[in-house]
Amino acid sequence: MKIIMLGAPGAGKGTQAKKIAAKYNIPHISTGDIFRANIKNGTELGNKAKTYMDQGLLVPDELVVDLVVDRVKQDDCANGYVLDGFPRTIPQAEALDKALAVIGEKMDYAIDVDVPDENIVHRMSGRRACVGCGATYHLEYAPTKVEGICDTCGKELILRDDDKPETVKKRLGVYHEQTQPLIDYYTNAGILKTVDGTVDINDVFQTIVNILGE
Ligand code: ADP
Ligand code: AMP
Repeated sequence: MKIIMLGAPGAGKGTQAKKIAAKYNIPHISTGDIFRANIKNGTELGNKAKTYMDQGLLVPDELVVDLVVDRVKQDDCANGYVLDGFPRTIPQAEALDKALAVIGEKMDYAIDVDVPDENIVHRMSGRRACVGCGATYHLEYAPTKVEGICDTCGKELILRDDDKPETVKKRLGVYHEQTQPLIDYYTNAGILKTVDGTVDINDVFQTIVNILGE
């Protein structure tokens, strides 16, 4: 089962992708997480990506496409995977389709987690990320057991720089301009499924399970 998560920044792609990965036992591939790990480790890729991420802009296609195409060819992806945050532009989607066609494969589902812009800034300002393992929480909707401390690894939680309201507004603009056209792209490919992302996390997940099957 090969799945793409679509949706605005903060719509809940990562939250649902993690649950899908656990239920269907497939890898969760988040390009944002890959870039943040590279930034943390001070790699050349991380340094390049950071300059774009800090401004709320997309990292150029050439820095992200090969990374994902190489990743999905690894052995653990043989039974499928869930892509979170990729593709984010039409050229990325086309490059993915092309690379899969070469090996006789194609994506099965593009799940659009639909949340209106009005909800997004509030969602993002309450999002907290663990500095250790990158786990994501929300002050109101997905709180940790002990405030400010990761349930999984015990490290400190922070507000991501790119989740500050000004950057979120910028990212939303970038989303509408560059990523939203993918909705038509995957509608035309016949694999788009839209789910209401404004309801409770577990209810969103149940709708997705109804689509993917038990
Ligand atoms: P994305 O990966 O699309 O950027 P996240 O999965 O990180 O978004 O979710 C953004 C924030 O909103 C997180 O703090 C998360 O805990 C919270 N969140 C996710 N889904 C829901 C939901 N259905 N209702 C309320 N809050 C949610
Ligand atoms: P995310 O964690 O998915 O919200 O991604 C955080 C940031 O990483 C984005 O705002 C972009 O700057 C960058 N990024 C992640 N995935 C991509 C992608 N597929 N294409 C371009 N930039 C990306």
